[in-house]
Amino acid sequence: MVKTILKALDGPLSDVERIKQESNYLRGTIAESMEEPISSGISDDDNRLMKFHGSYLQDDRDLRNERQKQKLEPAYQFMIRVRRPGGVATPDQWLVLDELSEKYGNGTLKLSTRQAFQMHGVLKWNMKKTLQEINGALMDTIAACGDVNRNVMCNPNPYQSKIHGEVYEWAKLLSDRLLPRTRAYHEIWLDEQKIAGTPDVEEIEPMYGPLYLPRKFKIGIAVPPSNDIDVFSQDIGLIAIVENDKLIGFNVALGGGMGMTHGDKKTYPQLAKVIGFCTPDQIYELAEKVITIQRDYGNRSNRSNARFKYTVDRLGLQTVKKELEDRLGWSLQGAKPFHFDHNGDRYGWVEGVEGSWHFTLFVEGGRIADVGDYQLKTGLREIAKIHTGDFRLTGNQNLVIANVSSEQKNEISKLIDQYGLTDGKHLSALRRSSMACVSLPTCGLAMAEAERYLPALLDKIETIVDENGLRDDEITIRMTGCPNGCARHALGEIGFIGKSPGKYNMYLGASFDGSRLSKMYRENIGEEEILKELRVLLSRYAKERELGEHFGDFVIRAGVVKATIDGTNFHE
Ligand code: SF4
Repeated sequence: MVKTILKALDGPLSDVERIKQESNYLRGTIAESMEEPISSGISDDDNRLMKFHGSYLQDDRDLRNERQKQKLEPAYQFMIRVRRPGGVATPDQWLVLDELSEKYGNGTLKLSTRQAFQMHGVLKWNMKKTLQEINGALMDTIAACGDVNRNVMCNPNPYQSKIHGEVYEWAKLLSDRLLPRTRAYHEIWLDEQKIAGTPDVEEIEPMYGPLYLPRKFKIGIAVPPSNDIDVFSQDIGLIAIVENDKLIGFNVALGGGMGMTHGDKKTYPQLAKVIGFCTPDQIYELAEKVITIQRDYGNRSNRSNARFKYTVDRLGLQTVKKELEDRLGWSLQGAKPFHFDHNGDRYGWVEGVEGSWHFTLFVEGGRIADVGDYQLKTGLREIAKIHTGDFRLTGNQNLVIANVSSEQKNEISKLIDQYGLTDGKHLSALRRSSMACVSLPTCGLAMAEAERYLPALLDKIETIVDENGLRDDEITIRMTGCPNGCARHALGEIGFIGKSPGKYNMYLGASFDGSRLSKMYRENIGEEEILKELRVLLSRYAKERELGEHFGDFVIRAGVVKATIDGTNFHE
C-alpha cells in the first residue's frame, strides 16, 4: 500500500494543550485542590483536567449575582457524569445513583443525550466519597468528559433484543478498551498507591500519548431502522448490518459532530459520512486507528476547530480513509445498504426475545425527579427494588425498563400505574419527540434556558399543534442553551439554540431519520416570534403536506429553508 503523507497543523498549542502536557497524565494538582479547605472551587487548570475524570466545576448561576453582592464566592458545585456504555445500568446501580443524588447531589438525576447519568450539585467536600461509591457499584466516571473517547452509545433497541445484546457488547468493549490507561483516576479518587519509577509513555498511554486528543471524541452504534443515537452526529458512527437475524458487521461513518460557535462560520455541525464496512471483530482496531489519526492531525491550536469533523474536512474524507487503511494494513469493504426511518424513541411495552418485555418511559428533558404529584423518581426507585432485568438510557433522554420477565410484568405494570409513570401516549407526539440540554442554572456555557423552558414553550406550541390537527404527528424538536449542541439541535426538525436570555436562533429542515442537518430560519427571536412563525408553518404543513411527509421534509419542499446535507453548507 502507498503510504499517504499528511501534514499536521503548525501553530502554537492552545492553553488546554499546555495544561495536559504539564499534568503528568491527568493528575495536575487535583488531589491537592480537593483537600484545600477554604474555597469550594478549584483552579481553572485542575478543572480542565477534572473533565477527564468525568466531572467539572459549575456554579449555581441563579445565585451568582446575589452572592457577588454579598462578596461571596460563587455557589460552586460539581457535575458528575457516570459512564454507562450503551446506557445500561442494573437495578442495584440505579439504586446507588438514586441514593447518591439525594445524599450528595441536588436530589435529581439527569439522563444525558449520550446515555450517561449526570448528577449535579455535588460539593467539593463530597466528591471523593461520591466517586468511591459510584466505583463501589461497579460504575465509573473515567473519560465521561475530556479530550478522549467518551461514553460509547448504542441503540437500546427493545424491538430486536438479541441484536441489541450483541451490539451492546461491542459498545462496551469499545468504551472500555478506549479508556485512558493512566492510573491518575485510581490514585486520586480510589486511593491506589502510586507505583514507583517512571514508566515511559508507551506504557502509560500507548494510544493517546501525553496530550490525549485535541478535543472530545464520540462513538455510537445504531441498529437500523432506528437511528435513535443519531449515528451521523458521531466522530465514528457505526451502523449495524443485520442479515438473516445475524449481525454481520458495521458500516463505518466518520466525521460527525454538532457543536459550533455563534458568529464563527468556520465552525459548523457536520454529518458523519459512510466510508465502508467492516466485520465486528475489526471495529476495535478501526476505532483505535481513527483515534490516532485525530491525535496526530487534529488542530491543537484552536479548540473551536479541533473536533475530528474539521480534521476530516481539512484533509478530505478520501485521504483520511486512505490513511486509515494504511494504518490498519487492510481495506474496508464497500458499504452495505441500510435504511433508517426515525431518530426518536418508541414508547410503551414491547415484547423482546425469550419472553422478556421492555417498557420505554417518556422522561421529559431526561430529568429524574419528583415534581408535585408526579413521583417519577420514587416510582423508579420502587421498580428498581424489585426489577430483575436492567435499565437502559436512550439517546433521546428516555428510559427503558428492560428485560422484564413475563412473571414480573404485572408487578412492574402495577408500579408504573401506581406512580403514573408515563409512556407519553396521552401527550402530544411533538412533546414526546423533544429534547433539551441541561443549560441554566448549572451549565457555565448556557446563554439561555433550555431544559427549564422547553416544557412551557411546548405547552404553547401544542395549542397550535391541536388547532391544526397535528397532535399525533411526530416532529422532532430540540433546544440547547448554547451552540455546543449537547441536545443535537442541528438534527431536530425544529431546533433552537440559545443566543441570550429569552432569545434563540431557530433552525428548520433536519430530516426525521437524522440524515440531514437543519438550517437557520430566524435569528435571535423570542417566544412571541417563535410562536408566530410556528403558527404559520404548522398550519401550512397541515394543509399542504403530502401523504406521510415529515415536517422537516415539508419545509425543504416548500422552499422555507434549503436542504443541508453537508455541514460546510450549514451557514449558506
Ligand atoms: Fe451547556 Fe451548551 Fe451543552 Fe446546553 S448545549 S448543556 S448550554 S454546553
